[in-house]
Amino acid sequence: MKRVWLVLLLLVLAGCTPRGRPEVRAPGRAATAGTPARSTAALRQCQTELGRAGVSFQALPDRIFGGGCDATAAVKLVAIGTPVTNLGALRCPLALAFARWVKDVAQPEAERTFGQPLRRIESFGTYACRPVNGQAGRKLSEHAHANAVDIAAFVLADGTRLTVRDGWNGPDPRVRAYLRAVHAAGCRRFGVVLGPDANALHHDHFHFDMASGGYCR
Ligand SMILES: [Zn+2]
Repeated sequence: MKRVWLVLLLLVLAGCTPRGRPEVRAPGRAATAGTPARSTAALRQCQTELGRAGVSFQALPDRIFGGGCDATAAVKLVAIGTPVTNLGALRCPLALAFARWVKDVAQPEAERTFGQPLRRIESFGTYACRPVNGQAGRKLSEHAHANAVDIAAFVLADGTRLTVRDGWNGPDPRVRAYLRAVHAAGCRRFGVVLGPDANALHHDHFHFDMASGGYCR
């Protein structure tokens, strides 16, 4: 079993598959036995929807790490229409919601507010094996399950860089409005959304995850 994953990992690292179209590898195969067929079907459905959304991605083999951390049913987004830095493994439903948020919210909102599209979005990353807010003793963060993404900045076509840190309560009302608009739209698309008003730890980024509970701040 171990050898299979090694081969898959080497295939991914070798980048030996053609880009520019959705690529589905080892869909729904779990590193542990007994994964319900239902989740396999859900993953296939999610990957199909990613393809329909025009997203180029690589399906990643399930990974189980130590300490309860894992990245299962995950994909690597290759191209979603807008470059996003620092994206690692994302569970498929989050990848789909995120790609749609970029295409249907972040980009058109930039056009509406600034009269130009985004050149790039900067993230602080996705997977990280750590507890909530990095505080020892707390339950694992959704980042520990590749089920969260942190967004720090938006770069417009003319090179203007809008950061959550400087813009959320910054002097430019258009930047404040843009950041609030994409944050609020995130609340309708993700399970949990945190920003500068949530707590000091989120003063410089938006946290989006797919946990149930529906928290938006
Ligand atoms: Zn986060």
